[in-house]
Amino acid sequence: MLRFNSNLLSFLRKAGKCFLHVWFPRVCFACQTDLPYDESQPLCAACRQQLTLPGPLICQRCGVELKSGGAHCFSCRGSKGEQFKCKCIRSAFVFNNSSRALVHALKYQGADYVASFMGQEMARCYARLPELSSAQVVVPVPLYPKRRRKRGYNQSELLARAFAAQTGLVLDTQCLIRTRDTCSQTQLGRRERLENMNGAFVCVTPQTINKKIVLLIDDVATTGATLEGCARALRQAGAKRVLAYTFAREN
Ligand SMILES: [Zn+2]
Ligand SMILES: [Zn+2]
Repeated sequence: MLRFNSNLLSFLRKAGKCFLHVWFPRVCFACQTDLPYDESQPLCAACRQQLTLPGPLICQRCGVELKSGGAHCFSCRGSKGEQFKCKCIRSAFVFNNSSRALVHALKYQGADYVASFMGQEMARCYARLPELSSAQVVVPVPLYPKRRRKRGYNQSELLARAFAAQTGLVLDTQCLIRTRDTCSQTQLGRRERLENMNGAFVCVTPQTINKKIVLLIDDVATTGATLEGCARALRQAGAKRVLAYTFAREN
């Protein structure tokens, strides 16, 4: 009887999925081809294959790709990155068609459910990053409250949740807040971006990160200015060390 019921249940589940698929076909976020009705991922198999790990030629501090090799990029070179509070930035994937499609779906298309796939992928790639393995507390980059209300969620928090659930690391979504709605940074240079982030973040519960190694989580790293702004606030509040991990790396 039990067996019959579970068979019936699985049949009904499949039939339901099939029915939904006919009426609301799901498409791959990157290439827009129809996904099979039993596909649970947001990308088709071919686009998933294109999610690319960053190569070995990256800046040891900020993770930017260095086409001609070397240990540090131009801006980290001076003191081997010692001038920065965020000691190491790594990303699961390079910014390409596939990773960009997921980031856009999450940020601009309200597709909050892609975060679980992205967070799981981040956890899978994390195992290859010994530079980040000392992390003790996971902290998402916060959004300004008004922006968060508009989007309905903080995409970095969803990623951090899925990532922490997979890795078993402690998650702290309360300790860091954004006190200023920093203007869009796309028009600003590297130095201006860093200045723009001055005092934009505050740690409101220093006791939870005191003497801890914090791992900041964000969707994309571009110049690392946002991560640096967060790291300054966390270090000021007593964090022992701040590292960062993002889903994608834009160079
Ligand atoms: Zn595709
Ligand atoms: Zn660098």
